[in-house]
Amino acid sequence: MTLVNIPLHAAVEMGGAVVAIMVAYLLIQLDSSNKGSSLNFSISSALLAMGLLDGLHALMLPGNYFVWLHSIATALGALFFASVWLPQERFKSSIHYLPRLAALSATTVAVFTFFYPAQVPVMFLAGKFTPFSICLHMTSGVLMLLAAIKLYSFQKISNKSEDRFFSIQCLLFGIASLLFTTSSLWDPLWWGWHFVRLIAYVSALWLVVKNTREMGEEINKLAFYDALTGLANRRLLVDRLQMALMTSSRNLQFGAILFIDLDKFKTINDTLGHKLGDMLLREVANRLKKCVREVDTVARIGGDEFAIFIENLSENQLEASKKIAHIAEKVLAVLAEQYQLGGQDYHSSASVGVNLCCAGDTSVDELINRADMAMYKAKSLGRNRVRFFDIQLQQSVETRATIELEIRHAITHHQLELYYQVQVDHEMKPIGSEALLRWIHPERGFIPPAEFIPIAEESCLINEVGDWVLEAACKQLYLWQQRKETRKLVLAVNISAVQFKELDFVKKLKRMMDRHEINPLNLKLELTESVALEDLELVISKMTEIKAMGVSLSLDDFGTGYSSLSYLKQLPFDQIKIDQQFVFNIATDRGDEVMVKTIIGLADNFKMSVIAEGVETDLQLAYLKQYGCMLFQGYFFSEPLPIKSFEALLERS
Ligand code: C2E
Ligand code: MG
Ligand code: MG
Repeated sequence: MTLVNIPLHAAVEMGGAVVAIMVAYLLIQLDSSNKGSSLNFSISSALLAMGLLDGLHALMLPGNYFVWLHSIATALGALFFASVWLPQERFKSSIHYLPRLAALSATTVAVFTFFYPAQVPVMFLAGKFTPFSICLHMTSGVLMLLAAIKLYSFQKISNKSEDRFFSIQCLLFGIASLLFTTSSLWDPLWWGWHFVRLIAYVSALWLVVKNTREMGEEINKLAFYDALTGLANRRLLVDRLQMALMTSSRNLQFGAILFIDLDKFKTINDTLGHKLGDMLLREVANRLKKCVREVDTVARIGGDEFAIFIENLSENQLEASKKIAHIAEKVLAVLAEQYQLGGQDYHSSASVGVNLCCAGDTSVDELINRADMAMYKAKSLGRNRVRFFDIQLQQSVETRATIELEIRHAITHHQLELYYQVQVDHEMKPIGSEALLRWIHPERGFIPPAEFIPIAEESCLINEVGDWVLEAACKQLYLWQQRKETRKLVLAVNISAVQFKELDFVKKLKRMMDRHEINPLNLKLELTESVALEDLELVISKMTEIKAMGVSLSLDDFGTGYSSLSYLKQLPFDQIKIDQQFVFNIATDRGDEVMVKTIIGLADNFKMSVIAEGVETDLQLAYLKQYGCMLFQGYFFSEPLPIKSFEALLERS
């Protein structure tokens, strides 16, 4: 019997080839998105090679030349699948050569059989497959089954559906090859072999299409929605804004962006735990959605930052402002309602920034930025309020930006200076001083620290500023330590919470002290309670390390911040500094008087010393002494002075 290509056979083989190529294409797509199985690229190469060879085989002419292609497809496929037993990397790199190897072998065989038909080992003779042919398919079948076992164990580790599938597919290929060895041309087993292969290709296609679709949906979800709240994310918000800006250029309607930030969310998260923090965020998301229409976009764009974009408010700006102000107030009100978090009642509030926008206004980023600025302003005005963006606000932001630039310049151009304010004991004898930073700007003159330190803290420039301060303080201490009259003075240096948070703060401090040969007993660091808002254990361990070096720690501005007694109990301070706001009214305000007494009592109980700052009058001094405070600082004794004047003051006293 001559080997004749019949249409059904050609169709099966060609169909297989087309499907294999599609599978390969989709797998490569998945592979480039780095999703799915790590074997995607490799398997795709193999399927591509096998499919192409099978396809060529389907073009078989009378005669048995191209039967070879089929056999090569089987053999190469089997070799490849079996190579999953190689180490991962070798396996992956070897597989890159597979399509080339397939093409090369196919061409060589085709040319060889064309010119030397008599030399070709016969695959098929007198209606039967030859022992050579059977041997080749048998070996391939066994290799495929071995590969199936390896792939099965692989999928158990990776737990990916494709890997599970690859192992089944490999099993099918193996069975197909073994079926071949027992079949004769055109008999049912022979057809069975072909169909099993076809099923393997088609099911691969089904799996890959399914995966691609699922992955597409997931990628879409990840890319545009916030995982915690299910709200839109910043990207989707920006997209919608862009679309809206384009359409509103046609209908000239005003829209608005609300930028919402929860007040003191960090404290909630730190004190109640992240689980309850997440619950709160989800609840906020739900409430925000209820404040607006279905068509409006509610997004979560940062930890505790949300944004709402509302379109088509009105063509009239005033009208639009009124409407949005109403919505913003509603947002404030619903967010201030009581929350139930894990069985506990909880209260929170938010600050809202509003920016009206219309077509051709400005860029989307700038629109969001303006709402953000307005929100900051709302926060700085005392939280739980709404604030509209205005140009003045923009200007103040711009000044901030210039100040940031100029602070850097100030450090390198020697515009910073330390002033010294004396600290005295109950006999008015100087015991040391607080170093206070001054910026003497060549054009703007004297800039108070309250104006630039917060800006430096926000931009992390405070680390550089703080390093400069510590360095200058150490230099001064060294000089004082050289003279008998000043040897005992303790210099207090303010350390911002941001600076204290630096990972290598303690190491840096130690290095600086060593370099200047400072006696640590003469150095005192003033920290505020805000240091304790971060990882409390880490803060305690840093403080303990500093104390072990001999440096003392003073708690600045006590009573103005969060002032939690539990923090105070755990933080190893040596001293509490009563804030000047309580000292100021000590003689006239009963509340402040009680506060001062309480702080002094607390310090006593916790075995800490206490110093009062902002003492301006002898009456205040008398009250403080009466309640047991023995250390003082304030204008009553001296203002902060440049070093020369300070030393002159010391000589006089
Ligand atoms: P602070 O550490 O609480 O410093 C005390 C502030 O009170 C100083 O203001 C001081 O001049 C002022 N003061 C002292 N005695 C009196 C008084 O009798 N009456 C009144 N009304 N005020 C008095 P200053 O120098 O403007 O510093 C303000 C804040 O800036 C400081 O508050 C501190 O938080 C920060 N600061 C100053 N220097 C540095 C520094 O080198 N590093 C860091 N991180 N912060 C600094
Ligand atoms: Mg201070
Ligand atoms: Mg203070």
